[in-house]
Amino acid sequence: MRAVRFPGPQQIENIDIPEPTAPAADEVLVQVRQVGICGSDYGGYLGKMPFFSYPRIWGHELGVEVLVCGSQVTHLKPGDRCSVEPYMNNVDSFASRRGRGNCCNDLQVIGVHRDGGMRERLCLPARKLHVGNALGFEQLALVETLAIGYHAVQRGNPQPGETVVIVGAGPIGLAVWEFVRLAGCRCIMLDVRPDRLEFCQQVLGVPETLAVQPDGSHVAQLAELTSGNLAEVVIDATGNARSMGQALELVSFTGRLVYVGITADTIQFPHPLMHRRELTLLASRNALPGDFGAIINWIAAGQINTQPWITHTSTLDTIAADFPRFLDPQLQVLKAMVAI
Ligand SMILES: [Zn+2]
Repeated sequence: MRAVRFPGPQQIENIDIPEPTAPAADEVLVQVRQVGICGSDYGGYLGKMPFFSYPRIWGHELGVEVLVCGSQVTHLKPGDRCSVEPYMNNVDSFASRRGRGNCCNDLQVIGVHRDGGMRERLCLPARKLHVGNALGFEQLALVETLAIGYHAVQRGNPQPGETVVIVGAGPIGLAVWEFVRLAGCRCIMLDVRPDRLEFCQQVLGVPETLAVQPDGSHVAQLAELTSGNLAEVVIDATGNARSMGQALELVSFTGRLVYVGITADTIQFPHPLMHRRELTLLASRNALPGDFGAIINWIAAGQINTQPWITHTSTLDTIAADFPRFLDPQLQVLKAMVAI
């Protein structure tokens, strides 16, 4: 059957691989229908993603159809449409036993640490599939991206009436925005690029935006917009160490700062800034199983409009040619979907 992999950094190729074997008792064999391309896939292609090893069949944002269920599988049946939770955790690990399999000590993400979904069929643990028969496969493939945002919002736990600032208007920042909106909070989106702010205002209807200024004057502008209080919750989705250090300046006294973007660099900030305001610093990694079902329900109820999210499409046969093109910032790719 057909598959696409990265043989090494800056390389992408179509390959032919053997069909998967029959599913184990607690597994299902699925037909992959749609695969979303994520920032970490672009990073893996470019060789900038530290967790990636090669060669790798990438793809972790999957909309799949169940073909065959293992003998012990009870919550799925052939024909079910599902979203896949791609975080393969060891259920006996310290974090998993505390209900936090999303940051399991031995976590393996499919398409990153082990081969993923850019192929026609594969076997997956049944417990990682979340049914959404009312949704299309593109919508199901989008659920994982949205779940990253949902989990970050839950970590910051904004209350109605509080102001949330999101730093970074990329796909993760916009996923965060969907759930800040649903939480009934005021949301102000920050980015260094005015064209990105314009895009998220026009395409997704983000109401309030603020351009990050090199001289830091956007902090005073935010103070002005918030009666001098700044934001109770700041969620940094940039993955940029400098932005992540400076994000403390945007948080109100007693506020919370969530890092959802990832950097391999050291983050620096003056300690008094954190101490005087008694800030809480949180990390947000991946998402929890329950997040997937909650998001599927919101999409089915029409509370999240997925239509503006999918800006580009490709296929298993054409993605090797399309992939480098999608990296061009001029194209303004929010989410590209690959039909399998
Ligand atoms: Zn992703």
